[in-house]
Amino acid sequence: MRAGYDLELVHLTKRYGDTIAVRDLNHRFAPGSYVCLLGPSGCGKSSTLRMIAGHEDVSEGSIVLDGQDVSWMAPAQRGTAMMFQNYALFPHLSVRDNVAFSLRMKGVDKAARHARADELLALVDMTRMADRLPAQLSGGQQQRVALARALVTEPKVLLLDEPLSALDPFLRIRMRAELKRLQRELGITFIHVTHGQDEALALADEIVVMNDAVIEQAGPAREVWARPRTEFVARFIGGHNVIALPGGKATVRADAVAIAEDGLAATVTAVEYQGAAVAVTTRTESGDEVLALLPEEQFFAAPKTPGEAVRLSWDERRLHRLQA
Ligand code: ADP
Repeated sequence: MRAGYDLELVHLTKRYGDTIAVRDLNHRFAPGSYVCLLGPSGCGKSSTLRMIAGHEDVSEGSIVLDGQDVSWMAPAQRGTAMMFQNYALFPHLSVRDNVAFSLRMKGVDKAARHARADELLALVDMTRMADRLPAQLSGGQQQRVALARALVTEPKVLLLDEPLSALDPFLRIRMRAELKRLQRELGITFIHVTHGQDEALALADEIVVMNDAVIEQAGPAREVWARPRTEFVARFIGGHNVIALPGGKATVRADAVAIAEDGLAATVTAVEYQGAAVAVTTRTESGDEVLALLPEEQFFAAPKTPGEAVRLSWDERRLHRLQA
């Protein structure tokens, strides 16, 4: 198997009337990687995904997959496949026939398409459900079928639009691991749209953070988390405090803030016990909210309560300046 295909967005723009949903995106997705498009509702994630899939026309720019401009090709011709949020399974077809559906459209004979469908069902661990109807499956099982159906066309890139949002929290974490395993086994690029930073951190090799129709930051998950470039990314990715300092704004991670003898004066506003850590929320004299995530033993050695005056300190090396 090849080690993934190149997908590149070149000056990609989407307009709906006067609304600019996607503004001049330029991005090359690392081949064979798990990519999360992350951002708040309305920032343009789905429009971007739908343009890559061919379910939405591009207004300007192009989509280049494996060296070919696919911008105006029909979805089925592009080498992409999409897994929808609601799975969109055919209710009257068995699981096996759902998975084999696109092969039937291509004229593949019944024995061959069923054999291929069975391979995909084995891949998603659904072999024993092959003869059921979608209505006889749980949400998690329907999702596995939808995945098998998307993968049966052997796409170069799999597109997933909020694939875990319909699942309960427990199942969501299990399916997360399944998606990651599948991506690794298949070696193709997965592009997964989510508004959940924890989901993106758990899954992504690369995170593309979008805000207001543009890419705000893109890079390896650990880099985006450790070195957010802008205040928006720092706040959206979570776990960071944004503090106004004389030289401009900076971030410091909540787990790098300590309560000490000297430091920035603040007042405790809330204390939350989280098990391994205690989250102490404070407000500085200049009005910044600063969260300190203290190891629980350290907190209970000198407990604090709301209203108490404290001093906050951190190692200067943990301070990270933001772009103005
Ligand atoms: P996200 O997936 O990040 O929530 P979308 O790509 O769905 O964002 O939407 C981006 C912007 O485009 C939003 O302002 C949204 O209201 C608008 N938009 C999306 N689809 C349509 C449409 N079919 N017609 C008009 N406006 C749309």
